[in-house]
Amino acid sequence: METPKRFEGKVAIVTASTQGIGLAIAERLGLEGASVVISSRKQQNVDAAAEQLRAKGIQVLGVVCHVSSAQQRKNLIDKTVQKYGKIDVVVSNAAANPSVDAILQTKDSVLDKLWEINVKATILLLKDAVPHLQKGSSVVIISSIAGFNPPPSLAMYGVTKTALLGLTKALAAEMAPNTRVNCVAPGFVPTNFASFITSNDAVKKELEEKTLLGRLGTTEDMGAAAAFLASDDAAYITERPL
Ligand code: NAP
Repeated sequence: METPKRFEGKVAIVTASTQGIGLAIAERLGLEGASVVISSRKQQNVDAAAEQLRAKGIQVLGVVCHVSSAQQRKNLIDKTVQKYGKIDVVVSNAAANPSVDAILQTKDSVLDKLWEINVKATILLLKDAVPHLQKGSSVVIISSIAGFNPPPSLAMYGVTKTALLGLTKALAAEMAPNTRVNCVAPGFVPTNFASFITSNDAVKKELEEKTLLGRLGTTEDMGAAAAFLASDDAAYITERPL
């Protein structure tokens, strides 16, 4: 099937996009014609991912951005606007999952880190992006299946993802009508982030059997879902989790 070109002339920022779901989203947007701005904490990862995308013919700018650094978030927006003059799509994808402790056993510092990276950084990045967001622009926040029903081993992480479901709704109201805000809530997708679950064959099989489609999601599935929400095909969709 030929890839549609829904993002010709559009500029898309994707956070945490040097591997896994973020990279797949950047790739899909880029293959559909977007100029994509990729980022993550490590320069070498940014360079390698940018190279990989360029080799596929994608127009890409790579910028280091640890999403909890105010200065690096500002730099990400500044560099994007210096190069492209505007922003059409922001995909907020970064997350941390530093603990498997029960919520009431989770250290203060870990609670802060989860809130900072998983929730607050999205808000602060969008604050910086808003002056440059075009009419008809779109924000896609990456939540998780764990946000609907936080499981015991991912409890506090899940709660931050629940917060993103609420944030999607609240921001959709605040940012309408110029900007639509939606979110993707992936199930288990084999990536580094989920490798503690998906690299165990027995656990993986159990998870696959629980899905209606008999398989885990792929990073390409997530790229397709995010690209749909970000595109004009979803022009009448806002405040929705997918
Ligand atoms: P991944 O494959 O491990 O990739 C993580 C990416 O994030 C890397 O590019 C990493 O690069 C970057 N990164 C990590 N911390 C960062 C930070 N503080 N600031 C900026 N970049 C950062 O992870 P993934 O599975 O694709 O997860 C992406 C998103 O999907 C997360 O929001 C996660 O919660 C969500 N999700 C994943 C699954 C799943 O099963 N995989 C399920 C539901 C939801 P550097 O190391 O260079 O920073």
